[in-house]
Amino acid sequence: MLILRTVQDIQSWLTFHSAKGSSIGFVPTMGALHAGHISLIDRAKRENHLTVCSIFVNPTQFNDAKDLEKYPRTLEADSLLLSNAGCDVLFYPSIAEIYPPGLAQVKVDLKGLDLVMEGAHRPGHFEGVVQVVHRLLDIVRPDRLYMGQKDFQQFTIIDHMIKELNLPVQLVVCPISREPHGLAMSSRNERLSTEGRKQAAFIYSTLSKAIDLKNTMKPEQICLQLFDELNQDPFKPEYVDIVGADDLLPIKTWTDSPVVICTAVWLEGIRLIDNIILSLAAKE
Ligand code: AMP
Repeated sequence: MLILRTVQDIQSWLTFHSAKGSSIGFVPTMGALHAGHISLIDRAKRENHLTVCSIFVNPTQFNDAKDLEKYPRTLEADSLLLSNAGCDVLFYPSIAEIYPPGLAQVKVDLKGLDLVMEGAHRPGHFEGVVQVVHRLLDIVRPDRLYMGQKDFQQFTIIDHMIKELNLPVQLVVCPISREPHGLAMSSRNERLSTEGRKQAAFIYSTLSKAIDLKNTMKPEQICLQLFDELNQDPFKPEYVDIVGADDLLPIKTWTDSPVVICTAVWLEGIRLIDNIILSLAAKE
């Protein structure tokens, strides 16, 4: 696997391979890779001639300086995982490569998608995400972009950006990889204690109750009940919302459109997110 650090290097490599007609699958990450990230690499490999992964801990999407500082950085282990998975190129740029002086900032009307859930609790976060993904797409120009359902709001916003700007890339959303006991895999799990990591399975088991509850209860009641259940020591939920999968707005009654239940919960000073797409339900 090649490790390329500059825009010039990756673009020369891409120009060479694109000229030969190779399709490019692209997996942007912030590193501290786990099996969830590798599932995206596997999918990209199956569907493209060549796979590029980027590792860039994007400062503009962190609204909390401490969170940015504490974000795990494990380049050596990451490169090993990626090369074992058969990734062709790791793009590992510096901040100056991604944000050179004078770079124009992309403007996209997010139509409020950035104001709910994560956006309401992490002001400016999605502006940073849009900025970095747009810049990375501009550098890599992939045929397909691979993102995880784990960050439901993130891929919804990127999907909106792609459509709004008419970008020539196909977004492929991959299912959430979970630990055997249900906890959604996340780079942040590394910072949990052994005990915390076991306890964190409670988030998914609580959220899963919505699958049955939706047969007898209204969305809002379920959110209140599950928020209360999650609101017990050592957990501190920020929100539990059942929203339309397209507009991310809370739904009042069940409809035939897809809906998703999303949550963010604090445990041991770490903020964990999870979601489940609820199958279509007809009961009101
Ligand atoms: P991150 O490094 O956290 O920015 O994540 C990079 C990409 O991997 C994003 O598209 C995430 O949604 C995706 N991802 C993170 N965790 C998981 C997971 N547990 N399962 C599937 N995809 C994931």
